Amino acid sequence: MVKRIVLLGAPGGGKGTQAKKIVQFFGVDHISTGDMLRAARSQGTPLGKKAAEFMDKGLLVPDELVIGLVKERVENCLSGFVLDGFPRNRTQAEALEKAGIDVDTVININVDEDVIVRRITGRRSCPNCGAVYHIEFSPSKDKIHCDNCHVALITRDDDKEETVRSRLKVYHENTAPLIQYYMNKGILQEVDGNADPDTVFERIKQVLSDVANR
Ligand code: AMP
Repeated sequence: MVKRIVLLGAPGGGKGTQAKKIVQFFGVDHISTGDMLRAARSQGTPLGKKAAEFMDKGLLVPDELVIGLVKERVENCLSGFVLDGFPRNRTQAEALEKAGIDVDTVININVDEDVIVRRITGRRSCPNCGAVYHIEFSPSKDKIHCDNCHVALITRDDDKEETVRSRLKVYHENTAPLIQYYMNKGILQEVDGNADPDTVFERIKQVLSDVANR
């Protein structure tokens, strides 16, 4: 059984959506650095305030801040995990290894760039509960308010078009080289993410079952 999974892929490639499905199906913990940073930010912690400066520009938050968060979280996680949004560069990948945190499988979700831009710029989030919708693919019931809390949905600052462009640039420069990094370690699995979430999840389940049966 595969219990320690890393999801790689460009922002907007569906990592968050697939991570939630993996969590439900396999009973592992969801560790999303994006979610942790947004929580720290809305709580107004010193780390959150520092992180906000980088997040709003679509830049990576400094490694030392993020690595500390992840280590603490993984150490308290007994049932396995799916890492979503971490590692984002080589320093972070090496930090996992130095901390003795072994990963079983790295899944790279491959999505075409035009699909990504359409997915991210159409995203709407609930400022209260964090639920995420999409104006085209998964709108809320009235398309304006959150189905759970009924507050008006917003476009996250880092989902605005110019920020999306910076995030994609940052992805190509920093994160994409991790594909080769994990390929060299023999634990990389590629999944075509140009499909609806359920189809992509079926592909992920297949990959994880193939890995487990090796
Ligand atoms: P995400 O929700 O994973 O797309 O992350 C949103 C933003 O949080 C990113 O654009 C970064 O500014 C920041 N962030 C999330 N994860 C990391 C990470 N592992 N390292 C540095 N910054 C991160």
